Amino acid sequence: MNSWTDKLRVVTPYVPGEQPQGNDIVKLNTNENPYPPSPEVKKVIDNLDTDRFAKYPDPTAAELVGELAKYHGVGASNIFVGTGSDDVLSTAFLAFFNSDKEIVFPDVTYSFYPVWAQVYRIPYREIPVDENYCLKVEDYLPDGDSFGGIVIANPNAPTGISMGLSDLEKIIAANDDCVVIVDEAYVDYGGQTALGLLEKYENLVVVRTFSKSRAMAGARIGYAVGGEKVIKELYDVAQSINSYTMTFDSLKIGAASVRDEKYFRDRIEDVVKTREITVRELEKRGFTVLPSSSNFVFARPSDGDAKSVFEKLREKEIYVRYFSKERTKEFLRITIGTDKQMERMFEALDS
Ligand SMILES: *Cc1c(COP(=O)(O)O)cnc(C)c1O
Repeated sequence: MNSWTDKLRVVTPYVPGEQPQGNDIVKLNTNENPYPPSPEVKKVIDNLDTDRFAKYPDPTAAELVGELAKYHGVGASNIFVGTGSDDVLSTAFLAFFNSDKEIVFPDVTYSFYPVWAQVYRIPYREIPVDENYCLKVEDYLPDGDSFGGIVIANPNAPTGISMGLSDLEKIIAANDDCVVIVDEAYVDYGGQTALGLLEKYENLVVVRTFSKSRAMAGARIGYAVGGEKVIKELYDVAQSINSYTMTFDSLKIGAASVRDEKYFRDRIEDVVKTREITVRELEKRGFTVLPSSSNFVFARPSDGDAKSVFEKLREKEIYVRYFSKERTKEFLRITIGTDKQMERMFEALDS
């Protein structure tokens, strides 16, 4: 019997961290920024010409692209923007990974990568990280046959561990026959950026987001930086699906955020300071904490029973993230909040 259900694109979706509502909750589960965005963003919103919503937004996103190009010292033709880096990454998977060869990424990494591979029917292989949760460079050097593509989050999630630039360059240099995507969602908190390698490697694409260090997860802004060829390919694919992804207000507030460099740097510094305190306090309580270059820590309680710590914190309205997969099930991923929020978590842990 033929059924319409045989013709569906059956996929298992990515499950984001829960978004509980309430005033008294401590939300440390989705790596959001505990601080508000730049006050310049509020000024733009307060003065927004809402009549402008009657018209389509600028399909070239020129204002935001222009600010980002200036910020990174590249040309406008080197920047692609999308609705969050999830949109940018998804477009990149669709655009660059169009062969029969396997794309590769680590077994412990952003869990959206295998989901995009599945929905776009891209063959993929997850390469195990080593016993310290680090990527092994040699695993990413092709041994005869080439890869279909490579995706590396640097710093990695949910570990927070960053890879040095020389190791990353070895991987990119050895794979000039496929695109290498470097997802720098957390790089502002202490990683080494691959942007400097773009002049040498036209198969490299660096992806960034406004959701973490720019405190604008709700605005949905992400972008890619790369050579003209890869950026044009991203626009060709994106505009084969939807001509107007970026709303006119998000283009304006995104640009305003980029212009306010001081506020941006100051809030990063605040989070990094709180991270250092958090690591010390967790270690005092017997946790093992992986070295973090991000706005979260990946920590293992001394008995490895992360699940029950997760559940007990949740009862006290403190939300952290727990991943039940084999290699991550003994850890909690804890987003760095304000000092006050972290104190509440420590009080809960002590009781
Ligand atoms: C948060 C995150 C993203 C997605 O961020 P957007 O909100 O879609 O911009 C992408 N990659 C990694 C590794 C992330 O942690």
